[in-house]
Amino acid sequence: MITPPPEEMACRTCLVPLNTLGTPPTHVHPVHLATDGHAPAPVPVSHLATVRRTCDFCGDPYPIWTLNGGNVTAVAIASSATVVQNFGETWAACATCQTHIDDGHPNLVVDRAVQALGVGTNPEVRGRIEELHLAFLDDRLPGRTLLTTTPWPAAFITAKDLPKVRDRLAHFYLGSDDLPAALGFTGTRGQIADGLDQSRLYWIDDDFTDLAEHAATQLTDLTIGHDTGPPANVFITWSRPVTQHQITAASWTVANDGWQLVLYRAIGAGLDGKPLQRLREQVGWLVPMATAHLTEQQPIDAGHLAATLITTWLLITQKAAEIDIPKVDKAVAKAYARTKRDQPEVRVVRIRGRHSSPSGAPAPTPRGQGRRQSSRFWVSGHWRNQAHGPGRSLRRPVYINPFLKGPAESPVKTSSTVRMLSTHKPQGDGPTPRPA
Ligand SMILES: [Zn+2]
Ligand SMILES: [Zn+2]
Repeated sequence: MITPPPEEMACRTCLVPLNTLGTPPTHVHPVHLATDGHAPAPVPVSHLATVRRTCDFCGDPYPIWTLNGGNVTAVAIASSATVVQNFGETWAACATCQTHIDDGHPNLVVDRAVQALGVGTNPEVRGRIEELHLAFLDDRLPGRTLLTTTPWPAAFITAKDLPKVRDRLAHFYLGSDDLPAALGFTGTRGQIADGLDQSRLYWIDDDFTDLAEHAATQLTDLTIGHDTGPPANVFITWSRPVTQHQITAASWTVANDGWQLVLYRAIGAGLDGKPLQRLREQVGWLVPMATAHLTEQQPIDAGHLAATLITTWLLITQKAAEIDIPKVDKAVAKAYARTKRDQPEVRVVRIRGRHSSPSGAPAPTPRGQGRRQSSRFWVSGHWRNQAHGPGRSLRRPVYINPFLKGPAESPVKTSSTVRMLSTHKPQGDGPTPRPA
C-alpha cells in the first residue's frame, strides 16, 4: 500500500518551509537559514496565506509557479547534521527561471543557481546542480500552478492601469494555469471572470485607504445584506497594500445566491525585462490570496476577510467619498474600441472635501517608512447603526467621528477632512444613494 506523502510544513514563526531530519523525522529550519534562534513551529503550508518559499532552481525569494516533475532528493552534509532535502515532485520556480525553462535554456537556470550559491566556476558543483535540475525537468508533467503565497515587495497599481489590470485578471481566470487547491476555486473561475468583466472599477486614494483600513479594524457585528455590501460586481484597488496580509485589491462578484469575494496581492515588483513581460502577459498584476463565498445575513467583523472591502464600500455610501471618473487613457480607450467594448470607467475615490491628487493622476509616490511614521493616523471613530428606509425601519452601519492624530504641522490635521467627518452627523433621512 502506498501512503501519501506527509503534507509540507512551514514554520509558523518565520513562514519558511521546513526540512525533515532523522528517523523518525523531525522538522528543522533549512541549514542555510539564519534565524533568531527560535524553535521551528511546524504548521501545514495549506494553513498559511504567506509562505517564505524560494525558487527551488536558483534560490530567488519570489517564486511564482509550482511545477510537477521527477522526484528529487538531495542530501546536504553540514558539520552538525546530515539533512535530507526532499525537493519532491513539486518545485517552485521564479519568473526568470520559468522564462528560461519555457524558452528551452535550462543551462541559464543552472547559471543562476551557480551564481546564487557563490561557488565560482567549480565545474563539479555546476555538474551536480545540473543533474538535480535535469532529474526534475526531464520528468516534468504538463501544466503548472500559480504560487499565491509569496510575500512580494509592495507594489502600487495606478487608477489609469485599472482596466488593464482587471482584464488580465479575468484572462487568467479563463486560462488553463491552475490555482492552488487550498484556495478553493473549483468551478467558479469562469463566473468570477464574467463578474470582473461587468465590474465597476474603484481606485481608492491614500487618505481614503488610511480611513478605510482604520475603520475596518473597529468593525463589529455587521451582517451582509443588500444595504451593506456592494449590490453587484465591483473591483476595488487601494492605493497601497492594506492589512497584515498586504492586500492590494479585491473583487466582489455575484455568484450562487450570494457573492464571491477574492482578495489579491500585487506581484512583479523588482522584476524587469522579459521575465516581467511574461509575467504581465501570463498572469498580470495580481494573484488571488484568499477567497470566500458570502450570502445575505452573514455576520462579519473586523477579523473577516471582507472587512476592508465592506468598510470601504460603507464609507463610500455614507457620503464620505467624492468620486471622479477621469478620462480613460488613450491606449486603453483604443484597445476597448477595437474590441467593440464599452469604454471602461475608473472611479477615483477620495475623502469629500480633499483634493489631494488630480483626477487620473498616477498613484502617489510610494510611502517610505519615514513618511508613514511622521504622518497622521485615524483614531477613535466608531460604528453606529443608522436608521433609514421606509419608516426608518432599516439599519445601516455608519462610521462616526474619526479624527486624525499626528504631528501638528501635518497638513491633514487642519484640513476639511476632519471637519467633514465630524460635523456631518448622519440625519437618518432616508437611504444614501449609491455612488453613480
Ligand atoms: Zn522559523
Ligand atoms: Zn529561479
